[in-house]
Amino acid sequence: KSFDDLNLRQELLRGLAVMGFNKPSKIQERALPLLLKNPPQNLIGQSQSGTGKTAAFVLNMLSRIDLGTKTPQTLVLAPTRELAKQIAGVATIMGTFMAETGLQIAEAIPQSIARGQTLQGQVVVGTPGTVMDMVKRRQLDVRGIKVLTLDEADNMLDMQGMGEQCQRVLNLLPKNIQVVLFSATFPPEVMTFADRFAPNSNQITL
Ligand code: AMP
Repeated sequence: KSFDDLNLRQELLRGLAVMGFNKPSKIQERALPLLLKNPPQNLIGQSQSGTGKTAAFVLNMLSRIDLGTKTPQTLVLAPTRELAKQIAGVATIMGTFMAETGLQIAEAIPQSIARGQTLQGQVVVGTPGTVMDMVKRRQLDVRGIKVLTLDEADNMLDMQGMGEQCQRVLNLLPKNIQVVLFSATFPPEVMTFADRFAPNSNQITL
């Protein structure tokens, strides 16, 4: 199996080369054909960090972006700011050759936005509380979001109130978007959460 078989845009194949990825990891090999299907389908994936899941969901998002506008089109929710920053970093490197034609990656950091301004960038990455705050303050326009990715769902649910924040964010997003959820473990409460967020999903376990 090769990345060349996935119909990825040329810029992303070059981005993969910059990252030094020669062939898909196991999770990428299984997730990417499902993630990239049209019309888009939901996916629930069980995988630990270290398996290459970040690149899988980043490739999906970057494949679905319209570079003709800078407004947010894909949103990633992660349990910590540190992880959000890492994900934004992967998207930035993977998208190196889409930057030339307008790709912008944004971390949801409220202090970075002046009053009356909105966050620009086709990919937005943040923690649920911060994203929620920014939507409420009209610093983040989510009307154009078409892909929501939830990373480390089990860790998000372990944190007080974070599951609820995720739900509030989801409620504000357009209906019928693609929802992609990754979690290392699936105890019953994560399963319930996953089914609610990503109904009728494709499911993969490693
Ligand atoms: P993740 O599971 O997303 O945290 O990624 C784990 C690590 O694997 C990261 O350091 C990636 O740079 C690396 N990685 C992901 N996909 C590939 C690949 N296809 N080939 C080689 N390394 C990869």
